[in-house]
Amino acid sequence: MPQIRRDPFTNEEVVIVVERSKRPSHWLTKDNYKDDTYRKSNNCFFCRGNESSTPPESFRINDMDGDWIVRSFPNKFPIFSPNSRVVQEREGLFDVTNGTGTHEVIVEHYKHDKNFFNMSVEEFKYMILAYRERYTVLYNEPFTQYVSLFKNYLKEAGASINHPHSQIISLPIVSNKVMMELHNCKRFYDDRGESLHEVVIREEKKRGDRVILESDSFIVITPFASKYKYETEIIYKKDDLFQSIPKSTIGELSEVFFNLFNRYRKVLGIFPFNLILHGHPKSMEDIFYKWHFHIVPRLSYHAGFELSTGVYVNDVLPEEAAKQLVSSDI
Ligand SMILES: [Zn+2]
Ligand SMILES: [Zn+2]
Repeated sequence: MPQIRRDPFTNEEVVIVVERSKRPSHWLTKDNYKDDTYRKSNNCFFCRGNESSTPPESFRINDMDGDWIVRSFPNKFPIFSPNSRVVQEREGLFDVTNGTGTHEVIVEHYKHDKNFFNMSVEEFKYMILAYRERYTVLYNEPFTQYVSLFKNYLKEAGASINHPHSQIISLPIVSNKVMMELHNCKRFYDDRGESLHEVVIREEKKRGDRVILESDSFIVITPFASKYKYETEIIYKKDDLFQSIPKSTIGELSEVFFNLFNRYRKVLGIFPFNLILHGHPKSMEDIFYKWHFHIVPRLSYHAGFELSTGVYVNDVLPEEAAKQLVSSDI
């Protein structure tokens, strides 16, 4: 029987309809992708040796020989660009803000054929160190209201370049979608005196059937109202902002990523996905909200029903996805 589930963080509705998974379809997964999807490329702008093809570097982490492992630089084709000031204009009903912000690329590894499914704990650590560094710099820009950090992996998830990389953008606004999560968390906190994340974590631990793994500072779950099959969320259980996490927590988070993506690989093979960090907006560094990563596998396309109603259809029960991810022996 189909179920309509409502996400307590966003109020968005999802129809979970398992019967539909039996219809013939082509999942965008292991049959389509092999480990060698990413072959080495001599003319890749992001590879070691081709640094002069990118805009000037903003950050790097070097190895013992002085060669870079991870580096970042401005996006050549930015969504937003740095302006001297944010201008807001209104013409009748319509308002416009100029797109002031910094848009950077973080190359996660110098090796062209690295990806989340074959990276080591150490390699995740360098990547997250770079995330934290660039997040902090962009967050502290005077016009920043919010920093969006995300990764598109493979074409179906929006990637245009194969070399492993993420993107980070500082925004002069807090978008509606982010606001919706924050408002629901704030309303819950005002009503109940505790954080929605804490209550969800407590209830998920009590149920246990949507928890994939837990460490001292993190819990990984398949969200109750997962819009995408095999969607997961890594929630930071403590109260520091993303930019304030200590190095030891970065090590712990690297292990969580390593563990999770090895499980994913066992269950689904290599597949397209988006990684999204939801951190705190500058004006709302409060304890009613905890930063978290959404991992969104792109195993099928959403279509007219989603566009028309805003209701997503998912044909894998989040509890079933969790069961498979938990039992995959890594
Ligand atoms: Zn490359
Ligand atoms: Zn979120």
